[in-house]
Amino acid sequence: MDGNTPLRPAQTIPDLVADGLTLAEDTPVLTRVAQDFRLRLTPQMRAASQLSEGIARQFVPTAAELIERPEDRFDPIGDDTHAPVPGLTHRYPDRVILHVTKTCEVYCRFCFRRETVGDTGHLPPDQLEAAIAYIARTPAIWEVILTGGDPLVLSARRIADLVARLAAIPHVGVLRLHTRVPVVAPDRITGALIAALKQHPSVWVVVHTNHADELTDDARAALARLADAGIPLLSQSVLLRGVNDSAEALEALFRALIRLRVKPYYLHHCDLARGAGHFRTTIEEGQAIMAALRGRLSGTALPTYVLDIPGGYGKVPIGPEYLAQDPQGWTVTDPNGQPHRYEDPEPR
Ligand SMILES: *Cc1c(COP(=O)(O)O)cnc(C)c1O
Ligand code: SF4
Repeated sequence: MDGNTPLRPAQTIPDLVADGLTLAEDTPVLTRVAQDFRLRLTPQMRAASQLSEGIARQFVPTAAELIERPEDRFDPIGDDTHAPVPGLTHRYPDRVILHVTKTCEVYCRFCFRRETVGDTGHLPPDQLEAAIAYIARTPAIWEVILTGGDPLVLSARRIADLVARLAAIPHVGVLRLHTRVPVVAPDRITGALIAALKQHPSVWVVVHTNHADELTDDARAALARLADAGIPLLSQSVLLRGVNDSAEALEALFRALIRLRVKPYYLHHCDLARGAGHFRTTIEEGQAIMAALRGRLSGTALPTYVLDIPGGYGKVPIGPEYLAQDPQGWTVTDPNGQPHRYEDPEPR
């Protein structure tokens, strides 16, 4: 940790005023925002927000969050439409997401689960038992994805217990964790935590990160500890207006991730969370950014741009599209925007 890192998290508007991140005169309105949507910055992100606009905008509340738009939703990705038992979402046959906690180390102003995160902490033990029992009696479940909130806010001991339980279910071939902890609270990535994760023979960690400035020295070291332990790392990012909505910003992020041995996996189109409309770009803008990155960035560094279809219908790639079909065959567009003809072989 560097010498400027404050020792405690920021959890109130006065904390942010003290840091120079908000104006004292905005305290009343921002206090209203913070009552509606929880506020927390870890010491690391508190320090980093003072240096980077791209970070501050993700965590520091603004009055724009009070604006509700007709398209806003309470459950933007439909977590609740496929919940066989509380805390478990089973939308795709071969995998489930297990919401082990509703707590996070930071609260992102655009969070797609902002209506539910932060309120009740860990999944109660009886519900966790019921979720594990459901997984154990459902052989189609090949992968369990731990999410939240953020699963890595749990103690290493709790994670060790949970991973051991899941590792004992023979049909669960893969365990995946979706987390922001390695970036926002890197000191939680301890030897004990890594040992807890490694109890499963195929554990994958997907890191949520949206801006290259988040990858502080401490975050880089935490990611290196995971990679050195042999844990495959992927990333997911959210396309956010004012944070990373340019080819330059995303190129810097994706290059930094690849150097850190993290494969960019998904770039999410921003979901329809309430009060987060100011973060949304259009799909066309997102496609233009992805098109600009294609050809300029290694294929290894390019994530898939996806939309989680509102209502719980699943995630799908949303382009840009390089192929158009006509009765004679296909037109393929190259990374420079030039069209080329392609014909399928004759049917045999
Ligand atoms: C995103 C998501 C998954 C994981 O999807 P992948 O495309 O495999 O990363 C699984 N279940 C639900 C309900 C999801 O929202
Ligand atoms: S870390 Fe994830 S779940 Fe937690 S507030 Fe941010 S986006 Fe939401």
